[in-house]
Amino acid sequence: IIEIGTPERSVITTCAYCGVGCSFKAEMRGDELVRMVPYKHGKANRGHSCVKGRFAYGYASHKDRILSPMVRDSINDPWQEVSWSEAMEFAANRMKGIIDKHGRHSVGVITSSRCTNEETYLVQKLTRAVFMNNNTDTCARVCHSPTGYGLGQTFGTSAGTQDFDSVEHTDVVILIGANPTDGHPVFASRLKKRLRAGAKLIVVDPRRIDLVDGPHIKASHHLQLTPGTNVAVVTALAHTIVTEGLFNESFIRERCDWDEFQDYAEFVSDPRHSPEATQLLTGVPAEELRAAARLFARGGNGAVYYGLGVTEHSQGSTTVIGIANLAMLTGNVGRPGVGVNPLRGQNNVQGSCDMGSFPHELPGYRHVKNDAVRDVFESLWGVKIDNEPGLRIPNMLDAAVEGTFKGLYCQGEDILQSDPDTKHVAAGLAAMDCVIVHDLFLNETANYAHVFFPGSSFLEKDGTFTNAERRINRVRKVMAPKQGYADWEVTQMFAQAMGANWAYTHPSQIMDEIAMLTPSFAGVSYEKLETMGSVQWPCNDLAPEGTPLMHTQGFVRGKGKFIVTEYIATDEKTGPRFPLLLTTGRILSQYNVGAQTRRTDNVVWHDQDVLEIHPHDAELRGVRDGQFVKLASRSGETALMAKITDRVSPGVVYTTFHHPDTQANVITTDFSDWATNCPEYKVTAVQVSPSNGP
Ligand code: SF4
Repeated sequence: IIEIGTPERSVITTCAYCGVGCSFKAEMRGDELVRMVPYKHGKANRGHSCVKGRFAYGYASHKDRILSPMVRDSINDPWQEVSWSEAMEFAANRMKGIIDKHGRHSVGVITSSRCTNEETYLVQKLTRAVFMNNNTDTCARVCHSPTGYGLGQTFGTSAGTQDFDSVEHTDVVILIGANPTDGHPVFASRLKKRLRAGAKLIVVDPRRIDLVDGPHIKASHHLQLTPGTNVAVVTALAHTIVTEGLFNESFIRERCDWDEFQDYAEFVSDPRHSPEATQLLTGVPAEELRAAARLFARGGNGAVYYGLGVTEHSQGSTTVIGIANLAMLTGNVGRPGVGVNPLRGQNNVQGSCDMGSFPHELPGYRHVKNDAVRDVFESLWGVKIDNEPGLRIPNMLDAAVEGTFKGLYCQGEDILQSDPDTKHVAAGLAAMDCVIVHDLFLNETANYAHVFFPGSSFLEKDGTFTNAERRINRVRKVMAPKQGYADWEVTQMFAQAMGANWAYTHPSQIMDEIAMLTPSFAGVSYEKLETMGSVQWPCNDLAPEGTPLMHTQGFVRGKGKFIVTEYIATDEKTGPRFPLLLTTGRILSQYNVGAQTRRTDNVVWHDQDVLEIHPHDAELRGVRDGQFVKLASRSGETALMAKITDRVSPGVVYTTFHHPDTQANVITTDFSDWATNCPEYKVTAVQVSPSNGP
């Protein structure tokens, strides 16, 4: 029992971890945060939370936090603590020098889905209005960029169609490439409640997650596919629905392009997409595929929930399109209990994409080639905006290695740890003349930095996060920034040092500017958020109270668009040297690369990344349970502890990626999604052998 004393005041704010976006009451005594209590009026969580979010405040006061700006001439020099004004002058001089020498396209930014909407908006504005290029990208590149592409193409906008309440009206759920128990615990509780009440579940996953056979919950079907074959499975489901006449013709005729549907129906009806043919590609029994398709088509309200097991593939965008096709095919769009629902990994993946942090899109998903849209921004910002897309993260790193990209401002993102092919990331960073890292801790990327701007935690700033259901939640300042400035102020100071005349005095002014420039945010303001608690975009004159369900009358693009989904096997192949397929996931207690959760005191968090391996594969290699093993791929190798389990199939191994000593991304490949460059984290050919230790 911990004695915390009586709190003197409390502040309502939003969890900074996953895309559920739980509201919390931060209880304070003096300047000390004594407890985080889930807020019962929070519309995303209704008084619930998970252990990770409840103790999230711990890292904010961890001794590893850097509280002074630092600079150094070369990455081989020791860091020098300097004042904020000296750091700004140093950083601006370096960046201006690079632009003078190598041109305005030689610099760029990477921002994080952990930052607020207002911070993200300012960072992309810095790129477009100060650096004068479109070289802005976000860590959503490496997680949900295929969602943006796939849902944009089929439905017309990059967003989940439902609110979380919708799950209470669902009759049958397809859960594909997601493990909500560990990744989105509060949503998982609502899903489980609905399943216990009788809704049916179809799990599509190479691993037997707990929802397949958990206590009191049994999935009707587990389509345990070979990693990398999502597209084939989704197309086989559509094949059964079309060839057995189970599709919703009236919905398709009314809401979708009928000609495109006919082309699609002809494509999926081909015998090469039959369950029998698909079994050979995916390992999923044909009768399971057929039964799952019939259940989804006939089972009432059908909803699809998916995660990074869909997107982080060379065909991630194709699978998202296939899921949207399935929803339209069965008429499962535009009412409670249905829809296509990406479960966003980080707190503000949705928001960082909404705010224009992709190199081809201005805020509100509008292409930089659109003259009318650029005009609106140009007249408010008083600059000329490039009409060509800028560089994506992997393009920046490639260009750095080639010597044409020289300067990077990296806010809230540890690309050395989180991006694929660590050696290549390191080579790109080492080749730059100025790397500015803006973060709470000296992360791995900071080893290659020349400037370090200390960041503020979510407790030390005002702003908004947008969760997986498009809900814009307020983040409220609970305490003063320990290092002096909120992150949006740091970005503004840097822009001013570069010559900009920005003069925001509060994030609400930034939101007002976002609302002025972005039709889907036109009705959003801090005043409205105070009154309503939160609001789901689109929020504008047409929907002043926001939009819980999308596409209720028509799709954002007009008619829903069916697109054929040809399965193309990944180039990552197993062979005699690397005969197993590695896939990855998360555990409940850790968050991404663990920079925050590893710095939060809690005895249950003394975990480590382990390698799950099937008993058959372990025996073949002489691997014992709990023994250290070497995990090697064509890219590199690491060592971690083996856990023998039949949760994975023979031929498949699985690990998490939370600990820097494991360095899972040393072994991942540089293959990526054909449309968005989202890395193929979920499929790597590997070999496992006994080892003496790390
Ligand atoms: Fe809620 Fe996710 Fe935070 Fe847990 S980590 S409290 S589920 S937002």
